[in-house]
Amino acid sequence: MPASDAAFTTPKPSLRVFLCSPRGFCAGVVRAIDSVERALVLYGPPVYVRHEIVHNRYVVEGLRAKGAIFVDELDEIPDTDAPVIFSAHGVPQSVPAEAKRRNFLALDATCPLVTKVHREAEIHRRRGREILLIGHAGHPEVVGTLGQLPAGAATLIETIADVDAFTPRDPAQLAYVTQTTLSIDDTAEIVAGLKARFPQIVGPHKEDICYATTNRQEAVKLVAPQVDAVIVVGAPNSSNSLRLKEVAERAGCPRAALVQRAADVDWDMFGSLASLGVTAGASAPEVLVEEILDAFAERYSISVETVAAAEEDVFFPLPRALRENEAAE
Ligand code: SF4
Repeated sequence: MPASDAAFTTPKPSLRVFLCSPRGFCAGVVRAIDSVERALVLYGPPVYVRHEIVHNRYVVEGLRAKGAIFVDELDEIPDTDAPVIFSAHGVPQSVPAEAKRRNFLALDATCPLVTKVHREAEIHRRRGREILLIGHAGHPEVVGTLGQLPAGAATLIETIADVDAFTPRDPAQLAYVTQTTLSIDDTAEIVAGLKARFPQIVGPHKEDICYATTNRQEAVKLVAPQVDAVIVVGAPNSSNSLRLKEVAERAGCPRAALVQRAADVDWDMFGSLASLGVTAGASAPEVLVEEILDAFAERYSISVETVAAAEEDVFFPLPRALRENEAAE
């Protein structure tokens, strides 16, 4: 038999794939993407979007093809009647103020769970508390939350070392809020450190880490100890996707990778497996999970099982202006 024929008849190795559930899009991401889609239908292109609407290149490119124009700051937008949408991550108060000054038709796609953190921070400030924001420097959500407060009203805490180094103005007047997409375990450690040093510190009744981040991390914790490797479908600037990779590694799976598209899979790393865990960050569409499963199916004979950590039925309605127009149609 010619060598090429032998290659066709060699059976593929078996691969058990454990699909984490829930994975992928959360209610805040669905609302943000639907907001841009709806605005494009209602107003026609272009629709301006400040910042990537969600951290996923595939999603952004798809919306760009339909007429969305993405900008980093409002000063890149010419004077226009076109809508200007703020991303799911939230924006500093200076952004809607500037949009108003320029008479933009501003539509806010900030996730309601991020808005809730903004409100908590504002209440703490009004009660005269010094605020600690647990989060990652430079992430747009952190920039947005800090931007709800006057300069100096909040201090960013990224690590336990930051807790140790922090000196409050008054330990009896301290509060903390968190970014929504952090590692549950790291954040619990930081909060415990804060409570040990400052027993009177006030925090959220239930943590600020959102349901979607929590559920996706819990599902990875179930799967990671049982598999040879884990693939997290998501973007390198997606906080919750990065956390999923870390959670997989800490749960006992040393081979974990964040992958945007099937073309990015490192087959040296994923070329000889018996089992694989697959999940996706909250901004990664299911079509990319399917693309990556198809790539594995070309090399392996795969069987797919779902491992569920939680059921999700969260839904956020569109921003009011888009809903009202929907009703008027
Ligand atoms: S990850 Fe959580 S906070 Fe962020 S958009 Fe989704 S639901 Fe909202």
